[in-house]
Amino acid sequence: TKAHVDAIERAGALNCFITKTPELALQSARDSDARIAKGEARPLEGLPLGIKDLYCTKGVRTTAASRILDDFTPPYESTVSANLWRDGALMLGKLNLDEFAMGSSNETSAFGPVISPWRRKDASGGFDTARIVPGGSSGGSSAAVAAHLCLGATATDTGGSIRQPAAFTGTVGVKPTYGRCSRWGIVAFASSLDQAGPITRTVRDAAIMLRSMAGHDPKDTTSVDAPVPDYEASIGASVKGKRIGIPKEYRLDGLSPEIAALWDQGVAWLKDAGAEIVEISLPHTRTALPAYYIIAPAEASSNLARYDGVRYGLREKGRDITDMYEKTRARGFGAEVRRRVMIGTYVLSAGYYDAYYVRAQKIRSLIKRDFDIAFAAGVDAVLTPATPSPAFAIGEKGSADPVEMYLNDVFTVTVNMAGLPGLALPAGLSGNGLPLALQLIGRPFDEETLFSLASAIE
Ligand code: GLN
Repeated sequence: TKAHVDAIERAGALNCFITKTPELALQSARDSDARIAKGEARPLEGLPLGIKDLYCTKGVRTTAASRILDDFTPPYESTVSANLWRDGALMLGKLNLDEFAMGSSNETSAFGPVISPWRRKDASGGFDTARIVPGGSSGGSSAAVAAHLCLGATATDTGGSIRQPAAFTGTVGVKPTYGRCSRWGIVAFASSLDQAGPITRTVRDAAIMLRSMAGHDPKDTTSVDAPVPDYEASIGASVKGKRIGIPKEYRLDGLSPEIAALWDQGVAWLKDAGAEIVEISLPHTRTALPAYYIIAPAEASSNLARYDGVRYGLREKGRDITDMYEKTRARGFGAEVRRRVMIGTYVLSAGYYDAYYVRAQKIRSLIKRDFDIAFAAGVDAVLTPATPSPAFAIGEKGSADPVEMYLNDVFTVTVNMAGLPGLALPAGLSGNGLPLALQLIGRPFDEETLFSLASAIE
């Protein structure tokens, strides 16, 4: 813990943490030492973790990387973080993210961007000076794990925000099945899509961490009352005879040759491990991104209505209450959050609701049905690239056209739309020396198959 606390101090330039809690961490470490000495160690005893600053932590400031929650200190603990503390883990601090988890590069944080510890090679083979994004929205989590500032980190994934930052930083990210982890006490973005999960350096670490995070919670009625398997037992388990679906619709026009080669390599590795490869069709894939960018903003506009200057954080002075609401929300929310609230309010408004929101929900059912058909035909898991490109430099994408940024999520949002488990793991390096990753998608509540397949690749 002391080594991690010191490393965090030295790595301030990466801007991974919004709030550091070194005293709390060192005190918890002493408590863990005492337990270990007494032979009473719990499963995660003394393991120092980072917590995405979207998880409410009792008595520790929780900002969602937004000015509107700048001075919010929750009087309660999220269920998932409480589960980690129950098992003996300890917290090093609260990790930076895109504001309210809206983004794919961690550039929308009110606390400034996170810098990836990775450097890009230039044409001459040296390293260029560009500062690389760690992905988003869980960019503090991915960069901190990649930079060895914590052993693992919590993250959340609404449309790729665990898997894409893991892909960009050479770490492992798991989005469990919707309902596997409790959402209670995690600041809500799009409630029907949000899921908690871990980012770690190895597949085994992710399995260990997820086991503690997961489980039924009566405080979240969408969390499922099913036993949590010992995921670690799946590491190294045989994948002989597993049927792996390769969806032809993911071969996008213009898929870069290095991503296509990575995907082929993944197929070859799984074949070598004894898996059977089958081509499948997920015909509604191309509709997933546009439908996601209707549903997620719609739910966000509803969830973010609570930040009105009355109940939480920031309050600006106004002539009357309406003026106070307007000023608080205009100053408290950044540009991307305001854009989402406006889109969401529009698609939910009378007259447009059927044309946009209801249609997007229908598309969502079709996306889910595509996967159901593949699984019913005997496919155990689906293999795809995790992202269409390696990480890019800060400021390079999305400033003129937000859709350019949204396209990062093209391979990951389908999984949230269908409520399925997804795992991203490092599988190679791009020509410019940055990590590239594969994604495995599983049947509902079958994270175990993903862990065994991922450990065969790793
Ligand atoms: N990049 C996506 C978005 O901006 C996903 C975010 C997430 O998964 N939290 O909505």
